[in-house]
Amino acid sequence: LRPEGSLRAQLEERLPPALWQLLQDVSELAERMNCGVYVVGGFVRDLLLKVNNLDIDLVVEGDGIAFATALAVQLGGRVKTHEKFGTAVVVWGQQKIDVATARREFYQYPAALPQVEASNLRQDLYRRDFTINALAICLNQRRFGELIDFFCGQRDLEQGFIRVLYNLSFVEDPTRILRAIRFEQRYGFQIEPETLLFAREAIARQMIKELSYDRLFAELVLILSEANPAPALRRITELGIWQYLMPELVWTERVESELLAVPPLLAAMDTAGLGLPARPWMVYLLVLTRRLRRESIEAVGTRYPLRQRLRQAMQTLAEMGDAVDECLSQWLEAPSPSQLESLLSGWILEATIALLVGRPPAEAIAIVRAWQQVQAVRPLLNGQDLQTLGLRPGPEFARILQQLRKARLDGQVHDRDDEWALVKQWLAEQASKKKPGGTHV
Ligand code: ATP
Repeated sequence: LRPEGSLRAQLEERLPPALWQLLQDVSELAERMNCGVYVVGGFVRDLLLKVNNLDIDLVVEGDGIAFATALAVQLGGRVKTHEKFGTAVVVWGQQKIDVATARREFYQYPAALPQVEASNLRQDLYRRDFTINALAICLNQRRFGELIDFFCGQRDLEQGFIRVLYNLSFVEDPTRILRAIRFEQRYGFQIEPETLLFAREAIARQMIKELSYDRLFAELVLILSEANPAPALRRITELGIWQYLMPELVWTERVESELLAVPPLLAAMDTAGLGLPARPWMVYLLVLTRRLRRESIEAVGTRYPLRQRLRQAMQTLAEMGDAVDECLSQWLEAPSPSQLESLLSGWILEATIALLVGRPPAEAIAIVRAWQQVQAVRPLLNGQDLQTLGLRPGPEFARILQQLRKARLDGQVHDRDDEWALVKQWLAEQASKKKPGGTHV
């Protein structure tokens, strides 16, 4: 792990050429503007761990906003600035870089948002969460690639420790407790014993209660967005943190094994080429809440900033999951498109996946593939065709298209002629219904 002198060679070797070039551009600009510029945080940590990470965070000793503005001009991009915090984001094409002015933070009271004051690199790094995230690489020309490690972050990376920089770190910002768990489990590290003690103390002092639910939820989503969140969620259980995050949750072996089944299922679906645009964090959240009671799910839904569709999906899965799952087993014996539609229509993709976690991947894939085919079925006639019959777009129009689709799913119609005939038949039936004394169908 320990680099010999400069990290220049490692950077050049590992980075995609465009990113390497970008660091060169930053370096030249730093010279021209006569300020110290460093790449910091997760990028440096992951470079030393040989993990890909293309997220560049820069710290500027000097005027970060002026630097970001000049960089945006050089790259032909845009800059968004937050004067109050001395930070900016440079955006060009699909890429972005965060730029901060070297700063030191004060917390007016525990768990508050920080006050900021311009300062130097060491102090900027000291306000960070863990030693492994407080490493920097100098980008100025003569020192390009030099690793700056004030707090023995490199040693902790080698030994696999998550360590805070000062005792009150978790009290000042309790989100760091969740971040510590996330990094610990991601890299197979350990929260260093004294740091763990500080975390336990902050938990016992109920510091997590001081955080807003929006901030807590953002951290939870980050954990649920890890490649395999189950071990971190188990750690949350061990440390007694669910009582602040989701007191309704009952952690059982079943929940844990269902969570563990998600990554292989998603991977198998990917390998099978299903191309599902599923958001994994939602799948995990749905698996977590699947066995909760209605009132508990409502409580989770009101506490956190969840969209109505996700809340609804949580309720549907909890209430109907087992029944639908059983019907799907029967469906596998004798698959029929329209029955699949009646079972799964209205389910968001993530809820469908959460529903299927208990099955062998091959079965789950067969169901999802059949469901994709069902959803792709469209009637051959379209809105324009219907207009030639004098129909006007509106609810009636949509209903006819919907029914045509169902007829196709059930194999009632095969070509456009069949569909024309069916529409005309419906219209004739309707006309006779409207006529006084007409037959009612
Ligand atoms: P990831 O790989 O998850 O993106 P990251 O380290 O890049 O990890 P970010 O959340 O993007 O994580 O944060 C960037 C850097 O900002 C961190 O490396 C850390 O130095 C610092 N940081 C982020 N959150 C905190 C926090 N709550 N307290 C102190 N420092 C933080």
